[in-house]
Amino acid sequence: SLPLAGKVALVTGGSRGIGAAIARRLGADGADVVLTYARAADQAQAVAAQIQAGGRRALALAADSADPQAVIAAVERTVAEFGRIDIVVNNAGVFAYGPFEEETAENYERVMAIHVRAPFVAAQAASRHLPRGGRIITIGSCLGERVGAPGMALYSLSKAAVVGLSKGLAQDLGKRGITVNTVQPGPIDTDMNPADGEAADHQRAGLPLGEFGKAEDIAAAVAYLAGPGAAFVTGTQLSVDGGFSA
Ligand code: NDP
Repeated sequence: SLPLAGKVALVTGGSRGIGAAIARRLGADGADVVLTYARAADQAQAVAAQIQAGGRRALALAADSADPQAVIAAVERTVAEFGRIDIVVNNAGVFAYGPFEEETAENYERVMAIHVRAPFVAAQAASRHLPRGGRIITIGSCLGERVGAPGMALYSLSKAAVVGLSKGLAQDLGKRGITVNTVQPGPIDTDMNPADGEAADHQRAGLPLGEFGKAEDIAAAVAYLAGPGAAFVTGTQLSVDGGFSA
C-alpha cells in the first residue's frame, strides 16, 4: 500500500512551484490533500483536479498566509472536510530582495507574517488535531543557513526563524509522537526563481552541482519526512540545495 494511505495533508501555497509539486507528491503517495493559495485560483484548482484524478480527495482553498485567521481557518476546514489532519506543510512564501537601507516596516511585517507567523499559527491550530505520527514540515531556505550575498537580510531572517520554530516545536510535540522539521531548498526553478532569470548564473556559480533543482526534488524530501521512514527524525533541517551551503 502507499506510504501515506489514509493520511490527510495541508500544504500552504500549493497552487504553483514547490508547493504544487509537494501537493501532487503527497497525493501520489496516498494522502488526501488540502492546498491553499493567495491569488492563483485556477492553478490551485488544477492541482487539486490532478490529485483527484489519481484517486485521492483534494481541495483548493483561498487562504492568505499573511492573515493568521485565514491560516487557522484552513486548518479547521481541512479537519471539517476530510475528518482529520496528519501532515502540515508550511510552504507559502514570497521573495524579498533589495537594499537593506530601503527596506520598509510594511514589507518586514508582511514577510514575517507569511514566513514565520503563519507556520506558528498553523502548527498551533493543527496541534489540537494531530495524532501520534503527525508531521509538521516547514519550507525554509538555504539562505537561512548561509546568506552569501547582500540584499537578503529580511528574507534570510525569516527563513532562519523557522529553524528555531521547528526545533522548539519538536521539543513541545515530541512526547505526542509528532515530528517537526525544516526543509531548506537551494535554487529551485520556479516563478519565484526562474533558472533563466537575471540572478540565475550567479546562483549556478555558487552551486557544487552547478544547476538549479526542480520542485520535485523538494517534494521528494517532504515525502520522506512525511512518511513512515522518517519517524525518528525531528527538530532538524534537511538541505536540498545542490550543495549551496556546503
Ligand atoms: P512561487 O512564487 O513559485 O510560488 C509561491 C506559492 O506560494 C504560490 O502557490 C503562491 O500562491 C503561494 N503564496 C505566496 N504568498 C502567499 C500568501 N500570502 N498566502 C498564501 N499563499 C501564498 O515560489 P516557490 O515555489 O519557489 O517557493 C515556495 C517556497 O520555497 C517559499 O517558501 C520559498 O521561500 C521557498 N524557497 C524557494 C526557493 C527557490 O529557489 N524557488 C529556494 C528556497 C526556498 P499564489 O499562486 O496564489 O500566488
